[in-house]
Amino acid sequence: PAEAPLLSVRDLCVRFGGITALDGVSFDVQRGQVAGLIGPNGAGKTTLFNCLSRLYGYSEGRIRFDGQPLESVARHQVAGLGIGRTFQNLALFGSMSVLDNIKVGRHARTRKGFLANALRLPGVAAEEEDSSRRARELVRFLGLEPVADTRVAELPFGSRKRVELGRALASEPRLLLLDEPAAGLNHEEVGALGTLIRRIRDQFHLTVLLVEHHMGLVMSVSDHVVALNFGRKIAEGTPAQVRAHPEVIQAYLGTE
Ligand code: ATP
Repeated sequence: PAEAPLLSVRDLCVRFGGITALDGVSFDVQRGQVAGLIGPNGAGKTTLFNCLSRLYGYSEGRIRFDGQPLESVARHQVAGLGIGRTFQNLALFGSMSVLDNIKVGRHARTRKGFLANALRLPGVAAEEEDSSRRARELVRFLGLEPVADTRVAELPFGSRKRVELGRALASEPRLLLLDEPAAGLNHEEVGALGTLIRRIRDQFHLTVLLVEHHMGLVMSVSDHVVALNFGRKIAEGTPAQVRAHPEVIQAYLGTE
């Protein structure tokens, strides 16, 4: 039999007062896939991400991560479970260095934070050394070595987005959620990002779910694409199938 999907979303519904942000959405993400989630503004993509990271509850439906119902998992346990994410509006510490920002991601997983560090609790030194080493590896992998000790606030936007990626990777996720990684990047940077997403998947053996408005990027990196509109799934399949789907074409033409 085929291996169970890493992520399985079934009949997911989220309502905010009178607004139905997600209306019975179901799909699977297979292990090792890069999956793309597309849809016009307000389609429900960010709401879905927020459900996956337990920032939002949902009124109906089920999400299973590696067979485990996500409903039984608290928000602070999501990173430890193996779900990492980036944010549309970067959530970095501007006054800290690139390296330290990436280390923070590592602490999100181990849950031994800077406080334990500051107090020099037993066992912390070895762990600190380990997280420094891993953070340096990620800095190298992302081509951020020349700015490793630079404060994040001093970096150009494209580099800050790479730091955000590094921070998510530092928690060693099995599923990496990327929220509009191409937003604000120039043409060249988007090209490099596509290559990077594939390299991340291959090198770290993880599964990627990508929310993105940049169609060129989604269609070139994704193995599977899910399209939402007004909170409903309107199509899914290979990039070519989804791009040619009448409802997808209609949804995008309708917003222009
Ligand atoms: P975009 O591409 O613009 O980011 P999206 O596909 O991510 O859009 P969502 O942000 O998930 O869409 O929004 C889906 C719907 O839910 C929208 O109508 C939005 O106004 C509404 N919504 C999202 N979050 C909330 C909230 N916290 N409170 C009330 N309504 C919300």
